Amino acid sequence: MTLLKQALLRSIRLRALLLTIVLVGGLLTFHGMSSQAQPVGNTQLLWYGQSAFKLTTPSGKVLLIDPWLTNPLNPNGKTDLAKLDRVDLILISHGHVDHVGDAAAIAQKTNAKLVSTADLGTALVGYGSYPKALVGMETQGNFGGELSLLNDEVKVAFVPAIHSSAIASDGSPANYAGNPSGFLIRVKNGPTLYHTGDTDLFSDMSLIPQFGKVTVMLACIGDKFTMGPIRAAEAVKLVNPQTVIPMHYGVFNLPGTPTAFAQALRRQGAKSQLRVVKVGEVVRL
Ligand SMILES: [Zn+2]
Repeated sequence: MTLLKQALLRSIRLRALLLTIVLVGGLLTFHGMSSQAQPVGNTQLLWYGQSAFKLTTPSGKVLLIDPWLTNPLNPNGKTDLAKLDRVDLILISHGHVDHVGDAAAIAQKTNAKLVSTADLGTALVGYGSYPKALVGMETQGNFGGELSLLNDEVKVAFVPAIHSSAIASDGSPANYAGNPSGFLIRVKNGPTLYHTGDTDLFSDMSLIPQFGKVTVMLACIGDKFTMGPIRAAEAVKLVNPQTVIPMHYGVFNLPGTPTAFAQALRRQGAKSQLRVVKVGEVVRL
């Protein structure tokens, strides 16, 4: 057999193998999706602006994510803060002030426990006034791990983020605050959410849906400090959620906009549904 024929044969065998892998992968994904069908509408998600959300579970538990309620996009920040009477958990992705936000004040008022990487937890107690008693082993973790919380109603896994993380207070030098994260949040009898935190696009995002279909991706799009619309649209293609909600735009003169994000999603062929949420709007999932 000539060398050319041998090379051709090898190429055909390789293609057949790749096709088999793709088909088997597709069948597994389809099986995973069909077995995870959940009732819709009993979980509520409220956007406060920037990366701040309130998630209310079907049983009424309340989680806040990156709770900067008093951000410039939110005209009712102070009222929203005063109105909060019940918060079970506060998830914080990294140490920057627009993500830590009003966490310490909310925790002091509601006794909400901190969900974060252990390094960030230590830093928030040390330099961020988060009550030490609310930062315990039960709600602290690190990458690769998943926390089972609130009597197993909510599971939170830490997802890496390409960003930075430090805490500075009152003009003092910045303190180490662990590696920045995103969160994969699985609600029992409810949706699976992926909050990206602040990040650039990275190819390992494609691993996220292998562990369960993402219902809603909360994606930073502002550009400059995080991925912008074009790179965020590529991230959506990798994660392939049912719905994507843009966040982390409209403050600090960030150039990324939902309009540019919509164009990028269309142009780049993302299949997910875009849902642009207003500040203060509640989405039922
Ligand atoms: Zn940041």
